[in-house]
Amino acid sequence: MKIKDIFPYVLSEDLEKEFFFSQWEYSNRKICIVKVVCDNGIIGWGEGYGPADVVRESINYIKTNVIGMNPLQTDLIWSKMFRRVHDYARSGVFLSAISAIDVALWDIKGKFHNLPISTLLGGSFTEKIRPYATGLYFDDSKNLTKNLCKEAEGYVKEGFKSIKMKVGLGIENDIKNVQAVRNTIGYNIDLMIDANHAYSFDEALKLSKKLDDMDLKWFEEPLSPEFYDQYSELKSKSNIPIAAGECEYLRYGFQKLLDKNCIDFLQMDICACGGITEAKKITALSSTKGVKVVPHTWGSGIAFFAAINFISNLEPIPGRMYSDDALIELDRTENKIRENIIKNNITIKNGYISINKNPGLGIEVDETYLNKIIS
Ligand code: MG
Repeated sequence: MKIKDIFPYVLSEDLEKEFFFSQWEYSNRKICIVKVVCDNGIIGWGEGYGPADVVRESINYIKTNVIGMNPLQTDLIWSKMFRRVHDYARSGVFLSAISAIDVALWDIKGKFHNLPISTLLGGSFTEKIRPYATGLYFDDSKNLTKNLCKEAEGYVKEGFKSIKMKVGLGIENDIKNVQAVRNTIGYNIDLMIDANHAYSFDEALKLSKKLDDMDLKWFEEPLSPEFYDQYSELKSKSNIPIAAGECEYLRYGFQKLLDKNCIDFLQMDICACGGITEAKKITALSSTKGVKVVPHTWGSGIAFFAAINFISNLEPIPGRMYSDDALIELDRTENKIRENIIKNNITIKNGYISINKNPGLGIEVDETYLNKIIS
C-alpha cells in the first residue's frame, strides 16, 4: 500500500453570533482538514489546529515528501516530514500540518487492520469518557454575568458534570463572573477557568488567591506560554491546579514544561503538537512526572474523534481500583463544521460518551457538505 495523494481543504462557515475571549473575537470558523488517499482506495482523514489557510499551504509544502510512502510506517513518515522542516519549524504551524497528516495516517492504519486507533495504540483503559463543556465565552452585553450563569445552567441540565469558563476580562470582572457561575451550578459540578494567557504573574497569582474557595479543578493558561519559570512559581504558590499545553509543541517543548514543574494538567492539542505519533511520546514523558493529560480539543469532529481514541488509551494516573473519569474537552460554542462534517453523532448519555469501536478514527466524513464549504 502506498500514499497516492494528499488533499488539504480549508472549510469555512460564518457564525450567527460573534463571541470573544481574552485575545480576540470569533465571527467565522475556518478549519483545515486533510484527506490522504492510498493506491488501494483506503482514505484517511486528519485535521490541523491553527490558522487554516497557513496549515493548508504547509501541508502542500510537506506532502511531496510523503507521497509514495507506505502509510502504515507512521514513525518513518513522521520523521521524514519533521526533518524536512526541522530547521524552521520546531514549533508552530508546520507542526499542525504534520499533525494533520499523521492523524490521517492513523485513520488509514486502523482501516487497513480493521481496528480502532485506540486498539492500535495499546487498547482502551475505559469504555466511556466524561466530556466537559467548554463555553461561557464573552459577549459585549451588559448582562454578561447573567448570561454566563444561564449558559452554565443549560450545560448542567444537558447532563454535563464539568464546565470550563473563560476568564481574562480583568481580575474584578473575573471574580464576579466565576463566583456567580459557581453559585449557580453548585459545588457538585467541576468548574475550570481558562485565561488564554491573558495575565502577568502578579495578576494570575492574585486571581488564583481570590478564587481559592471556589473549588476550581484547574486554572488554564494563566500566563504566556513562554514564561516557564513564572508557571513554575505560580504552580508552587497557587492552590488551584495549573493546566497548560495547547500552545506547546513536540516532546521537546513539553519536556521543558514538565522538567520545570509548571503544570498539574498537560493539554497538548493532538492536531498541533505533532499528531498522534508525537502525542503518545509526550504522554510517556508526562507519565514519568505523574502529570495528568487532558488534551486540548478544538475544531471539527475529526479532531474530536482523534482525541476520543487517544484519551481512551491514556493510562490512569495514579493507578487504583476506581480511577477518576477520563476527560475530553467538548467545545459548545457555535460551530456548524463540527456538527456537520462527520455523519457520526456525538452522543452524551448520563454525562458520558461511549468509546466507539469502528476502524480508524471511527468516523464517516460527509464529502457533500465538505464540497459546499471549501474556502
Ligand atoms: Mg484553553
